[in-house]
Amino acid sequence: MFPRNVFPTTSEVNEAGHLVIGGCDTVDLAAEFGTPLYIFDDATLRGRCRSFVQEFNKRYPNTTVAYASKAYVNPAVAQIFADEGLGLDVVSGGELAVAQAINFPKELVYFHGSNKTAAELEQAVEWKIGRIVIDSFHELGLLEEVAASAGTSQDVLLRVSPSIDPHTHEKTTTGVLDSKFGFAIETGHAAEAVRQAVAAPHLNLKGLHFHLGSPIFELQPYRDGVEVVLEFAASMREEGLDLQEFSPGGGFAIAYTADQNPPTPADYAEAIIGTMTAECDRLGLDLPHLTIEPGRAIAGPAGVALYRVGAVKEIPGVRRYVSVDGGMGDNIRPALYDAAYEAVVANRVNDRGEQVATIAGKYCESGDVLIKDVLLPAIDGSGKDLIAIPASGAYCIPMASNYNLNPKPPIVLVNNGQARLIRRRETFQDQMLLDVA
Ligand SMILES: *Cc1c(COP(=O)(O)O)cnc(C)c1O
Repeated sequence: MFPRNVFPTTSEVNEAGHLVIGGCDTVDLAAEFGTPLYIFDDATLRGRCRSFVQEFNKRYPNTTVAYASKAYVNPAVAQIFADEGLGLDVVSGGELAVAQAINFPKELVYFHGSNKTAAELEQAVEWKIGRIVIDSFHELGLLEEVAASAGTSQDVLLRVSPSIDPHTHEKTTTGVLDSKFGFAIETGHAAEAVRQAVAAPHLNLKGLHFHLGSPIFELQPYRDGVEVVLEFAASMREEGLDLQEFSPGGGFAIAYTADQNPPTPADYAEAIIGTMTAECDRLGLDLPHLTIEPGRAIAGPAGVALYRVGAVKEIPGVRRYVSVDGGMGDNIRPALYDAAYEAVVANRVNDRGEQVATIAGKYCESGDVLIKDVLLPAIDGSGKDLIAIPASGAYCIPMASNYNLNPKPPIVLVNNGQARLIRRRETFQDQMLLDVA
């Protein structure tokens, strides 16, 4: 039972029983590029972009889909998002530099983040970035100064916090009152931020943004968030807020395990747009430009991590450890968020599951476990078996580290039987490049 729903759309099993993605046999990919290896399926990546663009635009043509870079970005994939007509969220000077490097349409770039530095704000203002999403009073003052000394007026949104719990992991919840993100509506800080932004001579307040957290498997938090923030917007009209733009953020869920059945882009579109249009009507607000910011839901399903099995350790009556050549260095999510994943043996996908195994990494931490219990065919220590972990396209590589000085894995983009290396494997030399003797 191949868990098809968590693998890229082009995934199949060939006659040899090998996992094939984008027309490329993963056993061949492992031989050519080595392991650990991250595989991105071009068709799935573009398919996810298109389904968000289409499902939102057919209900509400005045929508921008901005991909949240922090889920995973490099110049090659940023170019794909530009080609697909998406906008781009960045949260650091580094992500902004990628957008600049490929000449991403700057009017579609949004700069988020809870503590942007003066240097980052200067980088963005000088480049004439589309929008900066202000997150604090500190940033409001700093950006006014930066824009003033650049002699420009910067288009901005304010990030507000609606005090809504989206029922996801505590570490990925952002829109509740006790959060480092945004101006809380409940405390009056959001209202004060609107007053200050309206009064700032070099800031041009275009609208409001909120982001509740991620992944959000329910639709109700979006409906509630849209209601609270639009009601706040209406209450700020006399203070000079003209809501031309409105962003309910990202956080759209994906299936990590076979049993998960998250809402579709159409479901999210229906909930957000339905609530937004009804509320604007009720409150007498003009319909704003809508921006949504999926990250995980675009990159996540497109990526598969491929590892080679090394040591197999059976502790009788306790646990069977199957160790792979990657781990928490390339995927910290299980250790950080107790994230759950599926796995298949990529070189014999059709073999029957016989043993419950724990897939451990090679890092010197007991917490370096990728999957706690997964049913797999019998695995020996012959070194032939490859483990493929799907739904690995988001928040794995971007959070990768060089812990234990393990080099970070390469990334290939597969499409119609072609594999294009879009990031090479790090070498030991790369790791020492910045060290000064
Ligand atoms: C992280 C983030 C997103 C994307 O979240 P996903 O769960 O990857 O969709 C969108 N907007 C903002 C402001 C974010 O910080």
